[in-house]
Amino acid sequence: MKFINETKRILLERKKSILASLDALPIDMHQRDQHVGDSIDKSKAQVDQAEASDLRLRENQDLRSVESALSRIEAGTYELCEECEETIPRGRLTVKPTATRCVECQEDFEKFNTPPKPKRTLLDN
Ligand SMILES: [Zn+2]
Repeated sequence: MKFINETKRILLERKKSILASLDALPIDMHQRDQHVGDSIDKSKAQVDQAEASDLRLRENQDLRSVESALSRIEAGTYELCEECEETIPRGRLTVKPTATRCVECQEDFEKFNTPPKPKRTLLDN
C-alpha cells in the first residue's frame, strides 16, 4: 500500500505541474482579432502559437495518462497490465508511473504501432 500511496503522490504532483504549465501557455490566437499587429509581429506570433499548441497537445496527452493512472489506482487495477492482466513489475512503474502495460505487452504494442523497418536483403551487402 505504501508503494501505491507514494505513486499516487507522485502522479498528483505531476498533474499539478502539467496544469500549471498549461495555464502558463498563451491563449489560443484563433480567438483574437487577426488584423492586429504588423506582419513581422504577426508571423512571430504565429510561430509562437504553433509551438504553444504543440506543447499544449503534449501536455494534454500527459495529463490524460496521469489521470488514467490515478483512476486505475482508485479502481485497484493500477498494477495490472491492461492487455494480459499480469502484474506490472514495480520497478517499471517506478520508472514510468503512467505505464499501463507490462514490458512484453508494451513491446508488442509498439511493434504493432510503428511501421516496420525495411528488411535488409543479401543485395544490400
Ligand atoms: Zn501484459
